[in-house]
Amino acid sequence: MSDTSIDTSIRSLPPAAAASSSFATHAVTASVGQNPADADPTDPPGPPPLGSGGAAAPTFLKSPPRGPVRPRLVDAHTHLLPDRLAQAIRGYFVQFITGDFFPYPPQADACRAALMAAGVDRCWSLPYVRRPGSASGLNRWMAERWGQDPVVEPGATVHPGDDVGRVADEALALGLRLFKVHCAVGEFSLGDPRLEPLWDRASAGQIPVVVHLGHSPTGHTEADELPALETVARAWPHAPIILAHLGAPAVPEGLALLRRCPSLLADLTPVVIQTTPVTAADLEGLEERILFGTDLPSVGLRIEEVLGHLRSLGLSPRAERAILAGNADRLVPPR
Ligand SMILES: [Zn+2]
Repeated sequence: MSDTSIDTSIRSLPPAAAASSSFATHAVTASVGQNPADADPTDPPGPPPLGSGGAAAPTFLKSPPRGPVRPRLVDAHTHLLPDRLAQAIRGYFVQFITGDFFPYPPQADACRAALMAAGVDRCWSLPYVRRPGSASGLNRWMAERWGQDPVVEPGATVHPGDDVGRVADEALALGLRLFKVHCAVGEFSLGDPRLEPLWDRASAGQIPVVVHLGHSPTGHTEADELPALETVARAWPHAPIILAHLGAPAVPEGLALLRRCPSLLADLTPVVIQTTPVTAADLEGLEERILFGTDLPSVGLRIEEVLGHLRSLGLSPRAERAILAGNADRLVPPR
């Protein structure tokens, strides 16, 4: 199938189908009950263990006592990447910050274990590239390494210097269900017209795209870099675009942008050591468009500290459930 025919088939999705699957129309509580810890204690016990001869006590009598129900937790911003790339990214950071500042090692397997130990049920792993020619191979690695993983939801990336439509179609064919673009690392503007094939596909297929705006090597987004995102969000109002770090430190401007563009979302991922400075009032009415993220392993905070910050905001239980899992699960349903 040629690129053109793939493109045409995606564009030809009926708008009604896209509208009916719109992330804005789903219930906030979609994730409730999906946590194994939420299982009904009256569930019938499973069959006796093999080889028990039927004489063993029912399995439910052997179960440890149930503690309080643990809320489901989805980390929508991690970078579980190939070891060489992970080491290179850590090498970049330790030019500015000593290595022992980071509580987690850069290796993906160690990060996955740390996330699980902290109670994370699922995480999105977001790849990004510095230059053209790298995205396709990295996307293939993401699909092969994590495609069958019950915890890690692998993302894809594009660089505007590549044939973006071809790279995006290849990623979707590999089963990847979300994208990340990193304007600072890739040294491009979000308004680059060569990214339009990505927005077309995100819009037609309701594919989330996490956007790291800005060009600062510190990871910061400046307020004057947000208008490029507004232009894209207005041109593709059905594309679920997620502003990483809520545009920190341009958070007031990021919040205002979310209020102007109803299709836009944001994550509350810290920048290195700085949690996102928001209050419950700031998030009022936006609860269905905010995601939880840690930025593992490129973060100087522990997962529990990032979680503690969110819990300290005093959000309603419904808003907290939406931000900690429901919104991410609605955008990319668990496999
Ligand atoms: Zn990140």
